[in-house]
Amino acid sequence: MKFLPLFTVGILLFAGCAGAPSREAAYPGAPPSSRPSTGRSPTQPGSTARPGAVVASPSEVRGTRFIRVLISGGTPDVVLGGETIRAWGPDGRLVAEAAGRVTLGAVGERIRWNGSRLLGDTLDVAGAPDLRVGNRYVVGRVRFLARKGEMLAVAVVPLESYVAAVLSREAPARFQPEALAAIAVAVRTYAVGAAAKPRDPAYDVAGSVEDQVFDGMDGVAAVFREATDRTRGLVVRYRGELARTVYHSTCGGRTEDAGSVWGKDIPYLRSQFCDDCADSPVYRWEYRMSGTEGRRVATALGVPPGTDLSIAVTGRTPTGRASRVRISSGGVSMEVQAAEFRKAAGYANVRSLKMEIVPVAGGWRVTGEGWGHGVGLCQFGANGMARRGAGFREILLRYYPGTEITGETP
Ligand SMILES: [Zn+2]
Repeated sequence: MKFLPLFTVGILLFAGCAGAPSREAAYPGAPPSSRPSTGRSPTQPGSTARPGAVVASPSEVRGTRFIRVLISGGTPDVVLGGETIRAWGPDGRLVAEAAGRVTLGAVGERIRWNGSRLLGDTLDVAGAPDLRVGNRYVVGRVRFLARKGEMLAVAVVPLESYVAAVLSREAPARFQPEALAAIAVAVRTYAVGAAAKPRDPAYDVAGSVEDQVFDGMDGVAAVFREATDRTRGLVVRYRGELARTVYHSTCGGRTEDAGSVWGKDIPYLRSQFCDDCADSPVYRWEYRMSGTEGRRVATALGVPPGTDLSIAVTGRTPTGRASRVRISSGGVSMEVQAAEFRKAAGYANVRSLKMEIVPVAGGWRVTGEGWGHGVGLCQFGANGMARRGAGFREILLRYYPGTEITGETP
């Protein structure tokens, strides 16, 4: 288990309540707010509690697991908002305080506070009643690190709050409860697996499409918290190991083999027929690619386009998805991975590789089925199954066959 010592103040206070249904540990340091958050207790410690004053051992925080989420990086500065913003050093000592707005800047390995004071390389920051990091609202504390002139912001979020927040960005609120519950288990399994192999010594997952989208904890509707609470702690395992629970929007009739997409066969990620996503708005789609756009894509893929530019699918996977695309013009011909073509044309235009490309006057007509890579759980298919009365376990076992649904700790 990973957690920062300064988070243990609140955790310890609530350790005695472990086992109460759908409870979260408190978010230490932040006073109660009126925001709809995940089951917060009204009796959490106030901001006067000194961080680091109490150090709990991992056994004392049993049942509460945290995940470190990178919420900002790649820039030299980050802007924080909050009525009151306080910052502590790694030793738990309060080092700075401000109201309203603070800019943290990385100067090599040191942090500049609001354009003036130069502090150490690590700060733990909390805001009252809450903290905004860029556009993200975060409950609790955020660790900031200066690294080679870059500011990293890492939110340490209770796992179940993370699951609910990710679910709210990755699935529509109108989905059936059992479908949301199934996706919550997939999201949690991915997160627990990622935390076992952190991306970086400073964080477990990126809060972007690189891992799972995490936009902070505001606006997480009750349906997402309920789906998370109902499946609390459940993960998908294959032969005892955490499964790679990838998912996508709509398979368009048949999911894809992991081996066809990533070159590695995974027994529980083999193609399944799925007609439960037929009511997805992207079950069938069409994209009209203009001549200009086709020339831009050809150029991006390394073929100088002339008037005789041609674009055609030249290879398919066993499920019928495009695997190769040939681009030819003026005697130059190049075959690229279909995924490269899709990336160059735009993921929102060419929504999946289950597609046909037909030349038409003024460009190309690209028609296709589904949205996403097609591997693993089909979200709209899960929703269709739930509408037919399937429970979340049945849904998961359909898309991840041969796995089992168990508690997070075996
Ligand atoms: Zn489907």
